[in-house]
Amino acid sequence: MRLDGIHHVTCITADAPRNVDFYTRVLGLRMVKKTVNQDDPTVYHLFYADEQGSPGADITFFEYPGVRRGRAGAGMVHTVDWRVASEEALDFWEARLAGEAQRVTRSEGVLSFEDPEGLRQRLVVSHTSDAPLLAEHPEVPAEHALQGFDAVRAYAVDPEASRTLLEDVLELRAVDASSWEARGASRGGLYVYDEPPADRGLSGAGTVHHVAWASELEDHAAWHERVAAVGLRPSPIIDRFWFRSIYFREPSGVLFEIATKGPGFAVDEDPEHLGEALVLPPAFEHLRAQLEPVLTPLPHPRPWARTG
Ligand code: ZN
Repeated sequence: MRLDGIHHVTCITADAPRNVDFYTRVLGLRMVKKTVNQDDPTVYHLFYADEQGSPGADITFFEYPGVRRGRAGAGMVHTVDWRVASEEALDFWEARLAGEAQRVTRSEGVLSFEDPEGLRQRLVVSHTSDAPLLAEHPEVPAEHALQGFDAVRAYAVDPEASRTLLEDVLELRAVDASSWEARGASRGGLYVYDEPPADRGLSGAGTVHHVAWASELEDHAAWHERVAAVGLRPSPIIDRFWFRSIYFREPSGVLFEIATKGPGFAVDEDPEHLGEALVLPPAFEHLRAQLEPVLTPLPHPRPWARTG
């Protein structure tokens, strides 16, 4: 039983319209689901990914309107790494992100930046043979497009505290003293610890809420048993409609999820028009008339493809 890389990374935005603009217009991702937070349906949960909405390329945001800016500290993910094809792709993004992202810096094989709310991300030249997960955007040539996640990097005081969970329970492979790889049948993704800053972390806009690892549908219940067996008290298996989820906190403090690779985002929407309309899971559909007037108006995620 192996986890098939990173399924999704969920973060926090205080400014949903700007978030849509940055992840769709600037980064060239596709909005694959516009829905509500299932724990508070008066605010959005926004999903961006490749054309197909694949696990492995899915960055999602809970909207907490007006919440203060957070900062990553011990026990929090501080950086999300995306794959790109080449140094030429980094050249392209270095130019494109100027004036759109913050703190854009370049080193060999890596372009770092922060989104408009301070969420740190890096584009790294990929050395894997995993299939690239691409979204289409008229201003982003396919050879330069983001190709899905490479890694999440977290701050941990003592990475050793997580070793047993990562290696013996989740079956990640140790790469070195502070990084591990989840690699399954189709993809791999890295989990890396860095030394935390002196300041305490603060949850808020521009921070990561949790990272989800991809599970085959048939393994999901067994993962739940395994995590429960080592006393990490996972949530029950929750049906998120587009996938099923288990949540637990790993010993270094990062909130983990194990999410199934299916059924996926096309289960309730025309694959040609993912993310364009507000979609509510069946259990929330009766609230639509109350929710639509209170949700923040958002820009169309794909104005160049609008047909009417
Ligand atoms: Zn999640």
